[in-house]
Amino acid sequence: MRLIVLGAPGAGKGTQARNLAKFYNIDHISTGDMLRDIQNETLNGDVTVQKVISKGYLVPDDFIISLVEKRITADADKGFILDGFPRTLVQAEEFDKILVKVDQRLDRVIHVNVQDEVILERMSGRMICPNCGAMYHILYYPPEKNGICDECSTTLIQREDDKQKNVELRLKIYHKETMPIIKYYEDKGILSEVSGIGDMEEITKNITNVLNEVQNGYNH
Ligand code: AMP
Repeated sequence: MRLIVLGAPGAGKGTQARNLAKFYNIDHISTGDMLRDIQNETLNGDVTVQKVISKGYLVPDDFIISLVEKRITADADKGFILDGFPRTLVQAEEFDKILVKVDQRLDRVIHVNVQDEVILERMSGRMICPNCGAMYHILYYPPEKNGICDECSTTLIQREDDKQKNVELRLKIYHKETMPIIKYYEDKGILSEVSGIGDMEEITKNITNVLNEVQNGYNH
């Protein structure tokens, strides 16, 4: 199974990608995680990956495309779910070429759809523990003691890229750069739209149902 999950920042695509990778026993490829692993590397000589991410901008297409190409080529036979890639039309087009090179094709692209207002509410309430990485939300999943991690008692922080003005910027970039990809895959006839509002497990179930239906449709 080869899948892409698309969605605005904060739409829950990371959670869905993780759940689906487990369900189908395929590789979860998160470009956000890959970039965070090499955040001290520099782009074009001086700006670090970390700086670009924390500001909410995208790293250059050729940089991320080459990372993804290496990863896909290294393990071409195992299925995958891509989370956070492609994010621009150029990335989508280049990814098609990579797939041709490794003689693979995409089964489906899932768009996890959530309105901007919901995203803003979700993301600007997110808190993370800088020590153990536990995640909380002021409204949906608050820690027992205000601002303190339940696991290790460290003071919680808000990630720089979750701050309101950065979330707004990331949404703007998403609309401009990533939304055109939805049409790109729709035109290819491989896009499925799923609502990203509600219980996360329920949403995963909706996605697997949609994928089942599509596969049955193909078999007929
Ligand atoms: P994510 O965890 O998917 O929200 O990604 C975190 C950040 O990594 C994004 O806000 C971007 O700055 C960067 N990033 C992740 N994937 C890509 C990509 N495909 N193209 C450019 N930048 C990316």
